[in-house]
Amino acid sequence: MKRVFKILKIVGLLIGVLALALAILLFVTFSGGLPIVDGQRLDGVEVVKDGIVSAFIVDIDLHSVALIDAGNDRQAKAILRALARRGLGAEAVKAILLTHGDGDHANGVRAFPQAAVMALESDIALAEGREVKALFKHLASPRPNGIKVTRPLHEGETLDEGGLLVRVFAVPGHTRGSAAFLARGVLFMGDSAEATKDGKLAAGHWLFTENPAQDRASLRQLAQRLAPSAAEVKAIACAHSGVLTRGLAPLTEFAAGEK
Ligand SMILES: [Zn+2]
Repeated sequence: MKRVFKILKIVGLLIGVLALALAILLFVTFSGGLPIVDGQRLDGVEVVKDGIVSAFIVDIDLHSVALIDAGNDRQAKAILRALARRGLGAEAVKAILLTHGDGDHANGVRAFPQAAVMALESDIALAEGREVKALFKHLASPRPNGIKVTRPLHEGETLDEGGLLVRVFAVPGHTRGSAAFLARGVLFMGDSAEATKDGKLAAGHWLFTENPAQDRASLRQLAQRLAPSAAEVKAIACAHSGVLTRGLAPLTEFAAGEK
C-alpha cells in the first residue's frame, strides 16, 4: 500500500511538472504578441476572440456573413454569440475560409453545417483529420473529424461570395497549405505571421511552424505581390494576436528587414 502511494505521488509530481512546463511554453509563445481585442470592428469585419485564437466575421450583406477561420471551440459559442448580437443565427454564415487546417482554426466549422467550407488544396486532408500535421506525425495518427471541405481554393484566385470579393494567396510554411486572404481591406494571415506589441509583424512562431524558412520566404513574396495594391490593405490580422492598422506597412517593413 505504501509503495502504491509513493508511485502515485511520483506520477502526480511528474504531471505537475509537465503542466507547468506547458504553461510556461504557452506564456512565452503568446505573451510577446499584441492582444486580441474581442468585438473589435473594422470596416465590415468583426474580431471574435475564442480563447487564444481569433476568428473573423466578414460582412456579405445585412443578413449574411463569411468567416475567416472558425475558432477552436467545436460549438463556436463565441462566434454564435457575436452573430446573435446582430440578430443572426448559424445559417447566416454562408462560407468559412480556413487560413489552414489546424484544429484551433477549424474546430468550429462543425457548428455551421450549411456553410461552404474552403481551404487551399494542400491543407484539406489536415483540416478533415485525414492527415496529421508534420510536426506531430510521430505523436498522433490520422482520424477523420467530421469536417468536410466543400470547396478547394487555389492560389491567386479571387472569390466572389455574394458580392464579397476575397483574394487568395498561398503562404506555405506554417503548414503546406497555409493561405492569406484579402477581403474588405483586411489581410488575414492566419498563423503565417504574428503581430507584436510594438505594432510590427513577425514571422509565424518557430515552435509551431513546419518550415520557418519557407514561412519567411512566403511573407517576403506576399509583400512583393501586394506592393502594387498596397492602398487596398488597411489592416493586417493574425490569428493569435491583435489587428495591426497601419495598412500594408508592417508586412513591407518585415520584408525590408529580411534583406
Ligand atoms: Zn493556430
